[in-house]
Amino acid sequence: MLYGKWRPRGFDEVVGQEHIVTTLRNALATGQVAHAYLFSGPRGTGKTTTARIVARALNCIDLHQGEPCNRCGPCQAILKGAALDLIEMDAASNRGIDDIRELREKIAFAPSDLQRKVYLLDEVHMLTDGAFNALLKTLEEPPPHAFFILATTELHKVPATIISRCQRYDFHRVPNSAMVERLRFISEQEGFSVPGEGLLAIAIQARGGMRDAITLLEQVVARYRAAPSTEDVLAALGMVHDDRSEALALALVQEDLASALALARQVAEDGVDIARFTRETIDILRDTLLQVLGADRPESPRHDAAARVAPAAREHGINPARLAAGISELARADFRLDPTNPVPLEIACATMVLGTGVLAASAPVPAAPAAAGAARPAGRSRQPGQAPEGTDAAPSQEEGFMRELYERCRTVNTVLGAWLNGSCEVLSIGEEELELGFYHPLHMQKVDKDCRTLVEQQAELMLGRAMRLKVRQVERGSPASRRVPKGGHLVEAARALGATPVTKDGD
Ligand SMILES: [Zn+2]
Repeated sequence: MLYGKWRPRGFDEVVGQEHIVTTLRNALATGQVAHAYLFSGPRGTGKTTTARIVARALNCIDLHQGEPCNRCGPCQAILKGAALDLIEMDAASNRGIDDIRELREKIAFAPSDLQRKVYLLDEVHMLTDGAFNALLKTLEEPPPHAFFILATTELHKVPATIISRCQRYDFHRVPNSAMVERLRFISEQEGFSVPGEGLLAIAIQARGGMRDAITLLEQVVARYRAAPSTEDVLAALGMVHDDRSEALALALVQEDLASALALARQVAEDGVDIARFTRETIDILRDTLLQVLGADRPESPRHDAAARVAPAAREHGINPARLAAGISELARADFRLDPTNPVPLEIACATMVLGTGVLAASAPVPAAPAAAGAARPAGRSRQPGQAPEGTDAAPSQEEGFMRELYERCRTVNTVLGAWLNGSCEVLSIGEEELELGFYHPLHMQKVDKDCRTLVEQQAELMLGRAMRLKVRQVERGSPASRRVPKGGHLVEAARALGATPVTKDGD
């Protein structure tokens, strides 16, 4: 087990937690040690490892500037897991009041083989309320020979009374650069030869957890021997590059929506994991953005793909801010409901190419700055309570109907409902027909083809009669889209929503 072998034995080997180990080492060197510590942070970031180093440092008979010697009797006993006075408890399986009572009864006895008793309570947030209360009493007046280190991955579940009795240290996710450095060191010591790109891919996959990173390195080497190529590493991590993610990135920076949608559809039909494919596209676009901004990352696994996309982005005059906004659109795409459905990816691509205003405009558009104002007529910009010209009905009624229709459709089907988000408005509500005006043909076609039944069903539920959907393309804010019948349909629609329409005098 590579992880066990390379588990840090001293504070100086703990990776990415300098803010913690420096403080602890100084406290131990000067003898100003607290009786209770609380270590919080994500899994695999070094909490237990650091706790065991503290336990050794508290008992080491040859301490060097706060670092345990790891050679003396007490250090050796702890390293071998043979010390009776280092008591490690997993609160997940010893969570009751009886477990803590037992701990309290034994704590008064003097240590048997070490100088100091150290209690390490892992996953302490799992304790029951009764157990927390019992523990609190112990933390309030610990015997001089007893020390506590509580560890948790979920600090918010630990009562404030417990937290306030402890010296608290928050462990961070380990930065990729620090993980790569450590992985490189371990590889050298073990005689592995892994390319830098491969080590970075491992670090990225481990998401800040050093333990996971070392375990992944071990898996890669177990499968591809001591000198894997970058491709081997990516394959072992399940990060095999699908060339179409590069093609999609290219289509997006060239604002070629038709190609982008065709690629998304094709990938889904091939049964590719769309979430992973999307992440891959995001990675390429992120590197593209950096290259456009002049910040190259040659060590990135997606560097080469981005190097092919970046010139196209520059040639197309891509705006870095828009590219960044587009990347976050893609990152928002949610595939959890249906991992095989490409629609969230399609919507994200559409939003990226057509501009975020298209799908996010269900709220009144604020007065736009000069640059964006030209592309977006200010017709829909409206202060609350200020009726636009030429309408009888309160302006919020049609918007209210549309918003409710969208909310209902989205509740029934998150994926399809998203096509209605800010993409259209109600043109008319007839006896049997609901007419929606769309700002872009893409949304119109999608709703017409894929969402018809959904929209008709929900409109029927809202209005209490069968409705047929009619779609038409309109320009946002144009007089056509503002063509509101006097009284009539909208008033009716408003009544269906429970509103009391206000009639205007002299009209
Ligand atoms: Zn020692």
